[in-house]
Amino acid sequence: MSRPVEVTIASGKGGTGKTVLVSSLARLIENKVLADCDVDAPDLHLLLKPDTVREEPFTGGKVASIDPAACTGCGECMRRCRFGAVLEEAGPEARLYKVDPISCEGCAVCYYACPAGAVEMHEKQNGRWFVSDTAFGPFVHARLDPAEENSGKLVSIVRKEARLIARREGLRYIVVDGPPGIGCPVISSITGADLAVIVTEPTVSGFHDCERVVSLARHFGMPVAAVINKYDINLEAASRAEEYCERENIRLLGKVPFGLEVSRSIAAGTLVVDEAASPVARALRGVGDALMGALEEIASEAATKEQA
Ligand code: SF4
Ligand code: SF4
Repeated sequence: MSRPVEVTIASGKGGTGKTVLVSSLARLIENKVLADCDVDAPDLHLLLKPDTVREEPFTGGKVASIDPAACTGCGECMRRCRFGAVLEEAGPEARLYKVDPISCEGCAVCYYACPAGAVEMHEKQNGRWFVSDTAFGPFVHARLDPAEENSGKLVSIVRKEARLIARREGLRYIVVDGPPGIGCPVISSITGADLAVIVTEPTVSGFHDCERVVSLARHFGMPVAAVINKYDINLEAASRAEEYCERENIRLLGKVPFGLEVSRSIAAGTLVVDEAASPVARALRGVGDALMGALEEIASEAATKEQA
């Protein structure tokens, strides 16, 4: 059995229609596991309606605490903490110090500064990750707690679990919904994937971010394909995006028109791709076919390499 082929859907700019495309691919691509790597603001679960079968804590950082029995009340930790996370209270005999776990960034400066060895560093739970059953196949997703960081690490966990499931269940594809932007979580969501599909739109910021994600993906040596969403809101800009794809040798998987049925279906919790008469759905099905063609090519190249 060949290894599963992994595709990450990215966008740079938020709101280009990435999740609409991924939810459509959930319907159109068989034999796959889905992974939502937008762990800061996940939303794919709203459309896939998952039934969670496994839930795990995510510990991505550290938090300090002070042992009152060992603390001498010197105040050095409070003077050194740049985040204002050490709080001081008047005790009956001496000053009492404690750490506010919400403000603590886990830098450990207080741990090293404390002359009495009274500061301890603990693992901190930053969120949770889930494995769920859906009508479209297995689904790995996660949720970072509010104001928490380390989302790149959580993205890696989600992708790793999706790969394990794909191998264990003999699934052929891994479809990853990447986070917006081009920072650490996006790098975590695309590195090592077989293909990055960039969803763009004919706006200045949409195109600008598309270029940034293309450059990021190419930096990691990944093949890139593109989808131009809402192309008919600005035909001239859409045509420039097409020319860019041709010039940069980016496979254009399709152009999807703007349609009010997209927001209506999201509000109703249904998939726009299921609407038989919708021009948006027709275009999304075309994108699905083109993507399947690209994934088949990658799978066949990988199988040839494995045999060689
Ligand atoms: S670990 Fe860093 S942020 Fe947290 S209390 Fe200590 S010095 Fe402040
Ligand atoms: S540096 Fe150590 S001993 Fe001094 S107040 Fe902080 S925890 Fe207590």
